[in-house]
Amino acid sequence: MVSSRQTQSIRLVWEVFDRSDNAFSVVELVQMHKDSMNKTTVYRILDRFEKEGKLHTFLGKNGLKWYAKCNNCSSKQHIDIHPHFQCNECGKVECLSIDVKIPKVAKHHIEQANMLLLGQCDECVV
Ligand SMILES: [Zn+2]
Ligand SMILES: [Zn+2]
Repeated sequence: MVSSRQTQSIRLVWEVFDRSDNAFSVVELVQMHKDSMNKTTVYRILDRFEKEGKLHTFLGKNGLKWYAKCNNCSSKQHIDIHPHFQCNECGKVECLSIDVKIPKVAKHHIEQANMLLLGQCDECVV
């Protein structure tokens, strides 16, 4: 049984991703919702979206966890393997829609890959 308060929180967190194609760090997300829900609730909701294949997660600079919308992922497999870009000037993080070929590793099953490209975004590049 899901309480309406919980439904409301889930909707609030999803709206952030619905409105933008940028990625958001877990710190930003907690900060954005600090008046309506606590940190643990934000974490729990993000975790749920990830399991449902709606969001994918990756590590940015300084090991900070980031979340972004998934395209064509399912709860079973995140097939959305693409690099992420973080701007060294403004800190903005984006998903790059470029396919990256993940090498096959004998006797290993690859489920996720992390590639972080750093530099200047279109607004910061001179
Ligand atoms: Zn920038
Ligand atoms: Zn991404």
